Amino acid sequence: MVKKTLLILTVLIFVFTVSAQNDFDNSLKVLGNKYSKLENISNEAYSIFDQQSEEYLTLYVEGHALKNNIEQDKKELTKIIEKDPVNTFDSLKNYFQAETRSSARNPKYFEDLIELNLELLSQTRSNYSEVQEFKQYIDKLKDYYKANEKHVSYTPTRNLVRDQEEYVVTASSLNLRSEPNTDCDVISVLSEGEVVVKLSQANENWFKVRAKNGEIGYLHKGYLKSYVEGETPKKKPYYIVMVGTNKNTPYMVQRDTFLKHGEILVTFDDGPTNKDGNTSLVLDTLEDNNLSAIFFALGSKIGSSTESLIKREAKLGEAGVHGYYHATPSGKSLQYYSVGEMTADINKTKDKIFRLTNVSSTFFRPPYGVIKRDQLKALENNLGLMPLGWTIDTMDWSIKDPSELTRKVKDMISSRGKGVLLMHDIHNQSRITFMNIAKWINENGYKVITPEEALKRLSDY
Ligand SMILES: [Zn+2]
Repeated sequence: MVKKTLLILTVLIFVFTVSAQNDFDNSLKVLGNKYSKLENISNEAYSIFDQQSEEYLTLYVEGHALKNNIEQDKKELTKIIEKDPVNTFDSLKNYFQAETRSSARNPKYFEDLIELNLELLSQTRSNYSEVQEFKQYIDKLKDYYKANEKHVSYTPTRNLVRDQEEYVVTASSLNLRSEPNTDCDVISVLSEGEVVVKLSQANENWFKVRAKNGEIGYLHKGYLKSYVEGETPKKKPYYIVMVGTNKNTPYMVQRDTFLKHGEILVTFDDGPTNKDGNTSLVLDTLEDNNLSAIFFALGSKIGSSTESLIKREAKLGEAGVHGYYHATPSGKSLQYYSVGEMTADINKTKDKIFRLTNVSSTFFRPPYGVIKRDQLKALENNLGLMPLGWTIDTMDWSIKDPSELTRKVKDMISSRGKGVLLMHDIHNQSRITFMNIAKWINENGYKVITPEEALKRLSDY
């Protein structure tokens, strides 16, 4: 808590001290007091910056460099947020680095930072109403800036993108090691063509690097060559695990750059229900509308009465794995499980599904989106499961009125334009809403992609 308080204080202090205009500062302070109520939100975001700046934040440095012009930057920023809130993370990083590295710090960028935090936090399941409330303060701050535009000056920062040295793996497979020698653990195996970022030279032959999935370790430099733009296609990881230090919670955050505009990947969590329950009706809707979906099932709910549903899920899309329980027997998230406990549970579920369908599940979604990086890695490596988060959280469990929920989900899909849709096949309102949505999707030019197609595209990342 002390650390977080310090962080937010540091940010506020630099904002308050750098500006030359006292009246401007004072007004900002007044607004700053209002922020205190929502300090937790920004604390969490700044803690993410602090903790992850060396690891994840640098990972997302590609693109969106500052353009040395605040208007242009802001326009760019708005475009990015609108187009793809997940990519906002990139910008967030750039802006944050600009703030911390630049000798001249502009309060206006504080606003941008907070705004970007909000985007980031809404991606990480933070309390939605708090986010909304915080947004209102941002609007007030914006008005203030507008009225005081002439007092605000901006000193360009250097282009941050060129700072990092990137290398390509030239061996067909290359061990990422925990130390700069061969007498140590292998963290993971990288494949030919993978691009890594050099962090430092550990000794004569070894580089300390960050792999594309965020893992940090050592590679022998003899199997690396300098990355040349355009020579090797470079892709961003389709998900990241971020640790919000407020509650020390590791969140999986999904990107949907693998989807084209208009494409939707439909997913349902927490089922199946009883034989003739909502799961069955959702499956009917899929069938009637010629659509497919991934059902993230719970092993504890799979039994003789739900067998037929799992079989239908596999036929119409995929019966994926959500866990045996949700996620520990007492409903705590997976981070409270050891890797062994977790793997046993997940494997039990995967097995149950396989015995019924003769098809191996390919996708896995952690309950609440909460899972540690090493846990996810274990599932990928040991069980061959591909993690999948979401980018459109319908919050269908919280909105009981089907027509209100239908309206909200349509809004969410239209405003984002594409995405991995998260619903729950266990609720009445979700089943009814999906019936409405399915028709609407087909009639409005959206395309639901199949789990196979998703797998094909994600395997490329
Ligand atoms: Zn769930």
